[in-house]
Amino acid sequence: MTRPQIAPRGEEKLYFSALADGNLTYGFCLACSTSHFYPRTLCPNCHSDDIESRVGSGRGTIYSFTTQYRAGNPALEDQVPYTIVMVDLEEGYRMMADLVGSEPEAISIGLPVVAEIEHPDNEHPVVHFRMEVSHGR
Ligand SMILES: [Zn+2]
Repeated sequence: MTRPQIAPRGEEKLYFSALADGNLTYGFCLACSTSHFYPRTLCPNCHSDDIESRVGSGRGTIYSFTTQYRAGNPALEDQVPYTIVMVDLEEGYRMMADLVGSEPEAISIGLPVVAEIEHPDNEHPVVHFRMEVSHGR
């Protein structure tokens, strides 16, 4: 079964276009110097339209997470258990995606993660997070 598909428009189109090129972007307001995600035409902090899209590092820490033992969609049944994380990115915005490559028991708030972009055939790119490998342990 295929995953549910999206139909990006407006700012989302620009976001997915950048993602297809390997760039995870976020919005930055030049009026109040705050970052935001998802892409918008108005700053969610001060409502200015003086917004620019910036490329982020993809590095952040887990703000919160939940592990799903029952698929939220039939297309995801072969992936349970899977974990959804809210991540505080280095650039000051927060985004949600799934966390891959870790057992649920190993996940906790505050751990460092890095974004990776999957480019499925004939689908829009998808962002996942993966725990950053700590060296020297
Ligand atoms: Zn603003």
